[in-house]
Amino acid sequence: MQDFSGLPDTLSTALTKKGYSGLTPVQQAVTDDALAGKDLLVSAQTGSGKTVGFGLAMASDVLDDAGRFGRPAAPQAAVIAPTRELALQVRREFDWLFAEAGIVTASAVGGMDARTERRAIERGAHLIVATPGRLRDHIARGVIDMSDLKTVVLDEADEMLDMGFSEDLEFILDHTPKSRRTLMFSATVPRGIAKLAQTYQNEDAERLKVGSAEKQHADIKYSALNVAPSDIEKAIINLLRYHDAQTAIIFANTRSMVARLTAKFSNRGFSVVSLSGELSQAERTNAMQALRDGRAQVCVATDVAARGIDLPGLELVIHADLPSNAEALLHRSGRTGRAGRKGNSILIVPGRQRSKAQRLLKFAKLDAEWGIPPSAEAVLAKDEERIASNPALDEPSSAEELAFAERLLNGRTPEQIAAAYLRLYRERHSAPEILGALPEPGHRKPRDHAEFGPSTWFSLNLGRKHRAEPRWLLPMLCRNAGLSKSAIGAIRVQFQETFVEIANDAIAAMKQELGPEMSLEQGAALTELSGAPDFDASPKGPPADTLWTGKPPQKRKPRTEDKPKAPHKPKQAKDEGRKPSKPKKDKAPEKRGEKPPFKGKPPSKPKESKRRPDAADTSKSLRSGKVRHTSKGKGPQSRTGKGGDARPFRKRSKPQGR
Ligand code: ADP
Ligand code: MG
Repeated sequence: MQDFSGLPDTLSTALTKKGYSGLTPVQQAVTDDALAGKDLLVSAQTGSGKTVGFGLAMASDVLDDAGRFGRPAAPQAAVIAPTRELALQVRREFDWLFAEAGIVTASAVGGMDARTERRAIERGAHLIVATPGRLRDHIARGVIDMSDLKTVVLDEADEMLDMGFSEDLEFILDHTPKSRRTLMFSATVPRGIAKLAQTYQNEDAERLKVGSAEKQHADIKYSALNVAPSDIEKAIINLLRYHDAQTAIIFANTRSMVARLTAKFSNRGFSVVSLSGELSQAERTNAMQALRDGRAQVCVATDVAARGIDLPGLELVIHADLPSNAEALLHRSGRTGRAGRKGNSILIVPGRQRSKAQRLLKFAKLDAEWGIPPSAEAVLAKDEERIASNPALDEPSSAEELAFAERLLNGRTPEQIAAAYLRLYRERHSAPEILGALPEPGHRKPRDHAEFGPSTWFSLNLGRKHRAEPRWLLPMLCRNAGLSKSAIGAIRVQFQETFVEIANDAIAAMKQELGPEMSLEQGAALTELSGAPDFDASPKGPPADTLWTGKPPQKRKPRTEDKPKAPHKPKQAKDEGRKPSKPKKDKAPEKRGEKPPFKGKPPSKPKESKRRPDAADTSKSLRSGKVRHTSKGKGPQSRTGKGGDARPFRKRSKPQGR
């Protein structure tokens, strides 16, 4: 039974065609006649149908009595969203919702071709969907005339402010009529949003909170899994295998982590795409398309994908890094469990972050089940269960299939064929990982060298001159080389290299993990030594406290034994390079991760630098001389505007205060 009473026929027809049987609570709330024409600040949980909600809410502002749009000209309505993907998704929703009403939509979205946009806008449109920077550009250049605007929607308004779009929004709204209606929608309404509402909305604006905060995400099962730090990637592989979700999304806090996980999972045979600010718009669009049409199963993303993205088959969200706050946790997790469907949100919790995870869950008012990741055995058992319960087994067979079955059975038992079927299934899927035991809380195994056993020495091309310290080398080696801490013996930092002792029984797996170059991250690489390291032959260099007096040390001619080592590549250093000397900072979420990792005088900021460059718009950051991450040839200098600050292993100007 369809219940779309009170809506214009054109809309109820569209909703029925789409297969909806009624309005969701937030859609009912915003279409209340009493709210017609009023400014609204609406919060309702993720996946509750806010997009159609604001479509329906604005209908009475922009449609004629027959429920139709007039001739397309200057836009009647604008929807502004924080990310490109979200803006384009909104456009798709409006295209079907208002199809019967004869809508013409246009977009103004960062990263897209501005001339194509311009032509579409000039042909006339009823609605413009936009990201803030690009829309501002079009207004400033006189491409778009906003003076006819009846309604403006700010989707995920709080996020747009967080990303530093407030100036752009102000500029845009200043170019719209005072009489316009302003609708603001988000799942979370943090403090400070009231102020935003005051700035942008009328005094009689209504605040709607749909659904109680207590019941939010009832369709999402939250789990928090204790994982040894060296097992994080393995745990995720097992989770992906265990859940076998049609689509899964993995959130990480930094672009470098996204790149690493993407490479890792892709090597393991998952069809994986990534989404982060590091990618070109074309790459981001392709990634979204691959997820929508099922070519890709796994998406590894920064928080650029945390808001609004709606992928119907997305059943699994994994937080490879804990989100930075409770809101981010809710938004990321809200990519699943949408429109009444069930979903899983899984937090990966390395030992030390347990209390942080507990805090996040508490603030978000969520209950999570604590546990450990599925073991390799559990994954294999799940495979068997999946095969055994496959409905295809009970489907009637065609004559052709039966003839083939007979051929197969010729000389074989059914058991042999069933076993081969299982084998083939396993071959097509990545092997599950064996997870190490979790360390007991608070228990630290002393590293007793006598117990270490047979080992081989390697040279790592990072030394004191790169501010190498065992404190970060150890986790870096574990992370990249798939080693457990117990497989690493002595770590001897020299001036320009570090000698690392690795247990022989871990070496084969490590080499397989690293490939023939034995490269780790950001140009770091291992070289196997034929015997014990020659400490005397390794250049001494100046004493540690005289390093980095502002000038890089003189290049010396490489010794012959230096040759095989990969040169240090500063190009990836921007968000990774900090990691070594400042492990905490690297954990900063991407949106804050753009700041140069510099404690002293910050480089002078370009005007727009408040905005998260990652997000929607490149047009202005390009104008202001900021260069987006490119994969070739550009040192960190080109991205921060000031060279030295982003040097990979930079001098700390002061001991770390925080
Ligand atoms: P939100 O913005 O609240 O996070 P969306 O607007 O993206 O949620 O909608 C989430 C999903 O719900 C979308 O896939 C959308 O197509 C679907 N949806 C929206 N309205 C309805 C409805 N009335 N009935 C069924 N599904 C709906
Ligand atoms: Mg939304």
